[in-house]
Amino acid sequence: MTKSLALPKTLQQAITFFSDPQKTFNYAVSLRWPTGTVTCPRCESTEHSFISTRKIWFCKGCKKQFTVKVGTIFEDSPLGMDKWMIAVWMLTNCKNGISSYEIARALGITQKSAWHMMHRVRLAMHAKETVQIGGRGQEVEVDETFIGGAARFMHKGRRKRVITERGVKDKLAVMGMLERGGEIRAAVVPFRRKHHLQAEIRAHVKAKSAIYTDALLSYQGLNNQDFVHQTIDHAESYVEGQVHTNGLENFWSLLKRGLKGTYIAVEPFHMFRYLDEQVFRYNNRKATHDDERFHRVMSHIAGRRLTYEQLTGKGTDTVHQA
Ligand SMILES: [Zn+2]
Repeated sequence: MTKSLALPKTLQQAITFFSDPQKTFNYAVSLRWPTGTVTCPRCESTEHSFISTRKIWFCKGCKKQFTVKVGTIFEDSPLGMDKWMIAVWMLTNCKNGISSYEIARALGITQKSAWHMMHRVRLAMHAKETVQIGGRGQEVEVDETFIGGAARFMHKGRRKRVITERGVKDKLAVMGMLERGGEIRAAVVPFRRKHHLQAEIRAHVKAKSAIYTDALLSYQGLNNQDFVHQTIDHAESYVEGQVHTNGLENFWSLLKRGLKGTYIAVEPFHMFRYLDEQVFRYNNRKATHDDERFHRVMSHIAGRRLTYEQLTGKGTDTVHQA
């Protein structure tokens, strides 16, 4: 169905395309049920009747109604699909991210609605099943950085002297693994202890990979675990031939530019979602057109839900920045 729809390639085309409710509906249906068979999200029955004026199905199996939004990140949202599509388009394609204030203004909705909306889109950006990176003959950079508080913009050399192995309150350690010329994996790590960092490496990086890290003690012993490990001591220099972590340094700059310039204040609890967002854009950086990234996120909308209560913890009414 999607092929015959002549999908938009630019934001301007997207706005025109998604202002047509029937086209938007057809597109959403084609992504929700890629095989073309509409199944009830509750009981998986394929026996149903369609009420075209209201765009709802009545399931003959469980005798309940469902819409294209049920069982997706859009479930229970009162916002129209036209607004959702533009929000997804903007977040997947703006290199430094886009704040909930900007989305709210662009779509004419409240900042709170936009904030919740963006987090749902980030959930669709999260890569559920990831394949390991690296392998024999592949080079993988591994590095960590600190986000939050004063450490956020501190020079790396100074940061390492100031911050102890356990990290400092209000600061989050983020670990990244980058296959040169390939994909990145990143995670918020509770401690920079050896078993935490090396467990992440074993989970995400294939054996036999050449691994480059700085001289942090937590990385010692990787050579005994079927990796070819070389270190660069940042106290002395940043590059020694192939041995450097400059690719990851670039990613950290992107991440911090987004956090500093666009999102301003991010609660540590939500940091992994912003990380998912930046990792998604990075891993899809080679897409030639914006619609490829958009389509990739839209094909992950099913089976994912994120309620406002789940996001915030019940009963809170904090004013959320970002
Ligand atoms: Zn049913």
